[in-house]
Amino acid sequence: MESIKKIYRMGVGPSSSHTMAPNRAARRFLKKYPGAARYRVTLFSSLAATGKGHLTDKAIEEVMGSRPLEIVWKEDETLPLHPNGMQFDAFDSHGERCGHWEVYSIGGGALMSSDETELNSSRVSYPLTTMEGLLLHFQKSGNSFWGYVDQCEGPEIRDFLEEVWDTMKGSLERGLEQEGIIPGGLGLSRKAKSLFAKSRMLRSDFRTNGLIAAYAYAVAEENATKGTIVTAPTCGACGVLPAVLYHLFHTLKPSREDIVKALATAGLVGNVVKFNASISGAEVGCQGEVGTGCAMAAAAAAQLMGGSIRQIEYAAEMGLEHHLGLTCDPVGGLVQIPCIERNAHAATRALSCCHFALLSDGVHKISFDDVVAVMKETGQALPSLYRETAGGGLAKAYRGA
Ligand code: SF4
Repeated sequence: MESIKKIYRMGVGPSSSHTMAPNRAARRFLKKYPGAARYRVTLFSSLAATGKGHLTDKAIEEVMGSRPLEIVWKEDETLPLHPNGMQFDAFDSHGERCGHWEVYSIGGGALMSSDETELNSSRVSYPLTTMEGLLLHFQKSGNSFWGYVDQCEGPEIRDFLEEVWDTMKGSLERGLEQEGIIPGGLGLSRKAKSLFAKSRMLRSDFRTNGLIAAYAYAVAEENATKGTIVTAPTCGACGVLPAVLYHLFHTLKPSREDIVKALATAGLVGNVVKFNASISGAEVGCQGEVGTGCAMAAAAAAQLMGGSIRQIEYAAEMGLEHHLGLTCDPVGGLVQIPCIERNAHAATRALSCCHFALLSDGVHKISFDDVVAVMKETGQALPSLYRETAGGGLAKAYRGA
């Protein structure tokens, strides 16, 4: 299992799989073939279907600069290993192909080459890769989720997670200040600032829900406008975890160290999903993105609120379970509708899952690992229309304002 650094990638949105990863792939290809006379990038399946809305072409053009570049969109063709396939070609001045690379964007900004090697992988030693294995280990050793992350990654992970927290907080606070139209053509206005202003005047439950929604909108709107965010575990789901942490940061007033520990726990939860199923909307639908984000946030909240190991697992399990079957059908291929609002709902749900777990003794019938397995199976059974092609569901129903 990889470092949790791959769950938390700091960078520019709006999509970890459609902008961050293609941008990285283009950099890599250009480094290998810097002197070609002309370049061609072919995008397949989901990358081609939603690439324009997700700004995939812009992410590649940004790297290629003024070099001659052709981008070919093949939404009806799928490469063998993953729906998000890309082929990079370089040509010399005689038009002969002098370089070729087939590569896949496999979710959360990660790249995999055609020999199925994950590129730039930073494998650290996580001998335990299932939740059940982790729980048994914690029971025997007295260790904790965050303690296990420390043990596997080394103490330097703390510095990294501090930077993650600062970046999350930065995008959230920036997002709360912004107004105006989100680019892309849907004419969607930013709402975070107004939600925040109105929610502060409310009382009790309404206020909490309103504030958490405002926080999630703030980050997701930053993502949609190409602001810097942290994947958690993807760009599309980047608002859920920061919203919950920011709310608890202001209400419970935990130490910075406690926030870092909560991020470690959430990262481990996301890693277990990524390793055993997928966090890619193109592969398993939104259940893998926002569903995983909700599980991560619920676990982090349960830990911050003093939950036991079993209660933390239960909170995470509910966070994912109640997103099972959730499709990915972004309107216009943009990470806006339903994505932004969905982050807000997942954030409030994460807190409910946490509360519910804390009210229980943590004992329940369906395990987190079971839900992860079902999520994978459900995702694979979803017709491809509902896996980030922007061809079905809400994307099809939308007729414009
Ligand atoms: S619907 Fe969900 S998975 Fe699809 S782009 Fe939006 S946030 Fe990502």
